[in-house]
Amino acid sequence: MSFSNLQPIYTIGEEDYPIYDCDIPDHWHDWADEKGYEIVERVIDRNHLYLRCDACGEHTVSKVFVLRTATPRCPHCLNDRRRRLCDAAGVAFLGADSSHDFWIRLPCGHETCRQQSLLERVAAGKTGIRCEECLDARLAAEAGARGWQVMGDDPEGDHDYLLYRHGCGHKQRIAIVNMRTGRFTCGGCSDTWTRAPSHIYAMRFGLQSGRDAIKVGFSRDPWSRLRHQLMTDPQQDAELIRVIPVTTGHDAICREKRLHGTLCALFPEAVLEQAEFAGQVKVKSELYCASIAPEIMALLDDVALRVRSLARHRARQARRQERRIARRIKNRQRRKRPAGGPQAGRGCRAGHPSPANE
Ligand SMILES: [Zn+2]
Ligand SMILES: [Zn+2]
Ligand SMILES: [Zn+2]
Repeated sequence: MSFSNLQPIYTIGEEDYPIYDCDIPDHWHDWADEKGYEIVERVIDRNHLYLRCDACGEHTVSKVFVLRTATPRCPHCLNDRRRRLCDAAGVAFLGADSSHDFWIRLPCGHETCRQQSLLERVAAGKTGIRCEECLDARLAAEAGARGWQVMGDDPEGDHDYLLYRHGCGHKQRIAIVNMRTGRFTCGGCSDTWTRAPSHIYAMRFGLQSGRDAIKVGFSRDPWSRLRHQLMTDPQQDAELIRVIPVTTGHDAICREKRLHGTLCALFPEAVLEQAEFAGQVKVKSELYCASIAPEIMALLDDVALRVRSLARHRARQARRQERRIARRIKNRQRRKRPAGGPQAGRGCRAGHPSPANE
């Protein structure tokens, strides 16, 4: 192996530049001097120069043509300027993709890309930088604290709003500030009706396909729901076949969701496609083929049983609570009686007189 074949190389970063062994004309040195550089060597081919920057002492490669007609840009000085700009803007400079887009690290630790012009305005105190990741996390936390989930941007395109989904499954666009302050109600289960009595119901619809369908749902007023919301024609073959009173709307919605979960899991083939009832029943889903009516009724029997036993349990608890309150009032009155009376003093029990009474 001959060492004479090894070409001397200059390296900048990860780039290697083989030396192009040729004389450097004197007037090229004059050009370089004027532009703030020193020519170290010719590299790559007859058109390239390896330069040393007077300002920072670092090296760069430039075309002879550029040195002759313009001022080569020192990438190290450029990055120094970018770094100083980022420092002034309160972020860390990580790199630059193109001349105007900076890759930066925000004070929160997240990395992102921003334009030089924005960073200049930030450095001048005219604006701030918002971290999208932190913002998303904050919006999600604010929603989560109220039992909601961020679904995405506002479908109506308002930047002050987002699309959210409530724990009850209801989707709604809500102003971000209202989510923060809680000044809104869920259109699916607003407070007033979550506490009001409701019903689980089953309805039968005779579809144009000749099939009988069962709709299961919950409503404060199932009769009105059938007549004014679900039926498309007053003469329609439709009837309410089962109504189970439930103490609260919240209880009703939970039971209804569970019911659909069970029905879809056990009888997926009985779930009707919307195409079959579109234009006849004003709902998007939750219609089942009446062939599973006995199974649906059995599940509703179970719901009725649970609702009744829950109501009994709550009534018992209420009575117990009433007795507890009555007892507390009595005790308070007893303690207020003057000391020395027949039952005076806290901790004064028969057989264990307190020192004060001895
Ligand atoms: Zn430089
Ligand atoms: Zn962040
Ligand atoms: Zn809700």
